[in-house]
Amino acid sequence: DSLTEPDVDSGAVELSRLTKQFGEALAVDAVDLSVAPGELLVLLGPSGCGKTTTLRMVAGLEALTSGSVSIDGRDVSETTPQERDVAMVFQNYALYPHKTVRGNIRFPLRKMDLDEATMRDRVESTASLLDIQDLLDKQPAALSGGQRQRVAVGRALARRPSVLLMDEPLSNLDAKLKLRTRSELRDLQRRLGITTIYVTHDQEEAMSIADRIAVMNHGTVEQVGTPREIYREPRSEFIASFVGDPAMNLYSTATADPLVDALTETAPERAARVGIRPEDGYVVGEDGPVGTAPASLTATVDSTVTVVEPLGRAYEVGLETATAECLIRTRDCPS
Ligand code: ATP
Repeated sequence: DSLTEPDVDSGAVELSRLTKQFGEALAVDAVDLSVAPGELLVLLGPSGCGKTTTLRMVAGLEALTSGSVSIDGRDVSETTPQERDVAMVFQNYALYPHKTVRGNIRFPLRKMDLDEATMRDRVESTASLLDIQDLLDKQPAALSGGQRQRVAVGRALARRPSVLLMDEPLSNLDAKLKLRTRSELRDLQRRLGITTIYVTHDQEEAMSIADRIAVMNHGTVEQVGTPREIYREPRSEFIASFVGDPAMNLYSTATADPLVDALTETAPERAARVGIRPEDGYVVGEDGPVGTAPASLTATVDSTVTVVEPLGRAYEVGLETATAECLIRTRDCPS
């Protein structure tokens, strides 16, 4: 009954042609996705792309229009949330305000047919896992945002689900707490080996936490891959521009600009789109290079500096050629 004993063989999730229509609107459009046992898969995409609806269909909180959800090879499409062995953490935590922390963590256990002692053990071991033993007798109103977040995660884990679903679990935390909680969640997920589907619109959060990312747009999954694959080998212009901050510089080869020509080396006959990440550029000023040079330079282009913005650890430099603009991020912040 150990909470930290990873169950390496369970929690495989398979979405097949998963579809949700709200009236005329196709919120989720024939999504195919496999999540391996123990994997942390992030659903990433802009607001309204169908992430939450997909997650809610996995949880059993939203009926499917068509397609199926399977967990460990069992089609659960028609089953209730309780029958699915999944637990969900909501953005607003959805804690019961009139119950104590103990009461909140206990609540999902009540239908599990556990004896009183086991139930008490479960609450205690879950609380110690999340380091919230001291909070057990408090009510949600008396907790900080970070503490509420932990309680919500504790409540989800108390039942020992084989799949954990999280919908923007960090969005109510301030920037500093968000970073800390993010790595704590990641550690906990690894330690428990619990299959997790995690929804966020924040590409940096996705990059830092995911084993694999599924990028959604207009109800479909445009690409599934490791953070590195999504970043370095984006399969569509949407993904190239959605992932990365500052955003990738994008050009049409049809413009016949010196910058674009340099990037494509010889201008192709066919119109195409080329992109360059701000951190892949490098600025050489009249007084010499700005910051550490990259290992290799593939092309140089004369341009005018339009703006220099110090960011503390680096500069962002805006450049302009005859017809194109380019944003470069230096590798360090030379004085
Ligand atoms: P966000 O990050 O803003 O929550 P999302 O990617 O999670 O966005 P969803 O909440 O899944 O997107 O919504 C997908 C689409 O379905 C949106 O166009 C939304 O307006 C629509 N939608 C979601 N729920 C309903 C509903 N209950 N009734 C009608 N339309 C809905």
